[in-house]
Amino acid sequence: MRAMVLDKPAHPLQLRDVSKPRPGRGQLLVRVSACAVCRTDLHVVDDQLPNPKLPLILGHEIVGRVEEIGKQANSKFEIRNSKFQIGDRVGIPWLGWTDDNCAYCRSGRENLCDRARFTGYTIDGGYAEYTVADARYCFHLPDRYTDVEVAPLLCAGLIGYRSYRKTGDAWRLGIYGFGNAAHLIAQIALYEGRDLFVFTRPGDVATQNDAKKLGAVWAGGSDEMPSEKLDAAIIFASVGPLVPAALHALAKGGIVVCGGIHMSDIPSFPYADLWEERIITSVANLTRRDGEEFFALAPRVPVQTKMETFALEEANTALNRFRAGELKGTAVLTITG
Ligand SMILES: [Zn+2]
Ligand SMILES: [Zn+2]
Repeated sequence: MRAMVLDKPAHPLQLRDVSKPRPGRGQLLVRVSACAVCRTDLHVVDDQLPNPKLPLILGHEIVGRVEEIGKQANSKFEIRNSKFQIGDRVGIPWLGWTDDNCAYCRSGRENLCDRARFTGYTIDGGYAEYTVADARYCFHLPDRYTDVEVAPLLCAGLIGYRSYRKTGDAWRLGIYGFGNAAHLIAQIALYEGRDLFVFTRPGDVATQNDAKKLGAVWAGGSDEMPSEKLDAAIIFASVGPLVPAALHALAKGGIVVCGGIHMSDIPSFPYADLWEERIITSVANLTRRDGEEFFALAPRVPVQTKMETFALEEANTALNRFRAGELKGTAVLTITG
């Protein structure tokens, strides 16, 4: 099969003919139709994440069809595998495997599992014609979306949703960095009646206008203070200095959520900004429950995605344009029809 392979970080992916993977027990062999490109893919390529599997097939926002189901050797797997049949459409996310057994997994926090494996990072992903995935971590996807439309929801949507849920019932919600994840989550926040405040790069009036058009009550630069204090802020930009900026914009008891991205160092800030029960937290990975909730909610809003499509062999172009900030929506590789 054709695959785009990362041999070494800081080098372009190579188009290569590799052998088609075989599904093990409890795994699905999936013919990939679309795979979205995530910022994390860039971090892996740019050598900003430690110890990727090498050589590696990137991609963790995978949509495809089940072509084969690995041998079901015991009844436990049989029950779990019955979730999918040959021909089913399936979504494969970042969380690819956990041990189901550690203190984190047993307390509903499988996203923190010490032994977790991640699609397109520590196991091969979807920049290829086929991939295998543990059926327990795969999702059924809402019918309302095409393969290309739904692919970006599998990471930006899920991790964005987990970040959003961390804000509880915060009424006045700020979002710093209005990229793909923010655009998806803003739609859910508005659907749920929150007041939305959007922070962009200083001077990015075009994005501020987009945010207002979507329904934000206020949009401005990240160096500005919002028109009201916020009950919560989610940061989707990889800029550490936004953490004290967001904290400073919070009302008492507010929360800053660092939305699942690799961030630069956070500068020091006055203790008074944390005082009065303000909270700073981060979001790491996702749980299956996040996915089930999100895919039930997204079609009701309905959450709309913006995409730009590329052929599999154009993956380097997609990554380069993403790095340069030249994409108008999420890049999606269209692989098999
Ligand atoms: Zn675990
Ligand atoms: Zn991702």
